[in-house]
Amino acid sequence: MIRLDLEKALRAIRESGARIVAVQVPEGLKQRLVEIASEMEEKTGAKTVSFVSPCYGACDLKDAEAKALGAQLLVHFGHLQFVEKPCIPTTYVPLEYAASAKETMVLAEKLAALLKKNGFKKIVLCSTIQFGNHRALLKKGLVKKGFSVFEGKGGNVEKGQVLGCNYSGVKAVEARAEAVVFVGDGLFHPIGLGFAANKPVFVANPLEREAFALEKQRDLFLRKRIAMVEKARQAKTVAIWVSTKKGQQRAGLALALKGKFEGRGKIAFVFASDFISPDYILGIRAEAIVCTACPRIALDDSSQFGVPIINAAEALIVLGEKKAEEYAFDELL
Ligand code: SF4
Repeated sequence: MIRLDLEKALRAIRESGARIVAVQVPEGLKQRLVEIASEMEEKTGAKTVSFVSPCYGACDLKDAEAKALGAQLLVHFGHLQFVEKPCIPTTYVPLEYAASAKETMVLAEKLAALLKKNGFKKIVLCSTIQFGNHRALLKKGLVKKGFSVFEGKGGNVEKGQVLGCNYSGVKAVEARAEAVVFVGDGLFHPIGLGFAANKPVFVANPLEREAFALEKQRDLFLRKRIAMVEKARQAKTVAIWVSTKKGQQRAGLALALKGKFEGRGKIAFVFASDFISPDYILGIRAEAIVCTACPRIALDDSSQFGVPIINAAEALIVLGEKKAEEYAFDELL
C-alpha cells in the first residue's frame, strides 16, 4: 500500500497563503487525482490546477509552467527535490510503500542468510525514496545481526537514496563495504548499480519478499545494449534528442555530440521536446537516435522507436571514445 502524506501538502498551502496551487502527480497516483485535488480545495480554500502530462521524477518539475498559469505554489507528489532553485515556492510530497515491521524482519532474515552465504558482513544499503521505510527497518534488522551497514549521501539525493540516473550516494561509501544491497522492486536500479558500483549487487524486494544476487541479468543487459550500440553505429543520419524538462535538459551535451558525430562524417541534428515520444520522430529521416534525456527511455522503451536508440554514455562507444568493456550507465548528476 502506498502512503501519501496529504497533510504535508495542506500545511504548505495554508502556510503559503496561495490562492492558486499547481499540482503534479506521478502516473501511479492519477486515479486518485480528483480526490486529492478536491480535498486540497475543500480544506484550504485554494483552487488547484493539476498537470496531467506524464511525470516520472522530480527531474520533471513544472515550476515555470505553474508560474505561467498564475499559481503561487507548486505541490509535487511522488519525489524529493532534484531541481535546484525552482522559480516558485515548491513543496515535495514523496510517496512511500507502507512497511510492516514483521514482514520486513522476515526479509531481513533471508537477506542476512544470503549475504552470510556469500561471505559478506559489510554492506552499502540503498533504495529509491518509495522504499525508504523498508530500508530503515532492514538496516535495523541487519545491524542487530552484526552487519556493518553504510548509507551514502550523493549530490542532489537524500542519504541512502538512488535514482535511475544517480548512484553517487553508493559510490561515496562503497570503498568501506564488500557488497551493495538495493531495497526495492524491478531490475533497472540494480542493473544500474551493477555498472556504477564496483561491488557485488544484491536485491531485497519487499513487495515479492525475496532476496537474490544480481548475476546473469547484468550480462544479459550488457549484451543487448552492445547489440543496440552496434546497430546505431551503422546509421549515417543521427537524431540527437534533448528534453526541455528542467532536470533532464542537456542541450550543451547534445550540441557537443552533434559536433563529434559530424566530425566522423555523420549527419546529425539536435531535436527538442518536453516528453520524449516515438510519435514525435515519425516522418523525420533519422537512422538512429541518441537520447540525452532520462537514460531510462533508451534502455526500457527502445522497442517503441523503430530505429536504434541509445543514450549519451552509449554514444561515446559509437564515437570510439569508450570501449564496450568500459560500458557505463548514463548518470545525469
Ligand atoms: S531522469 Fe529519469 S531516472 Fe533520473 S530522476 Fe528523472 S525519471 Fe528518474
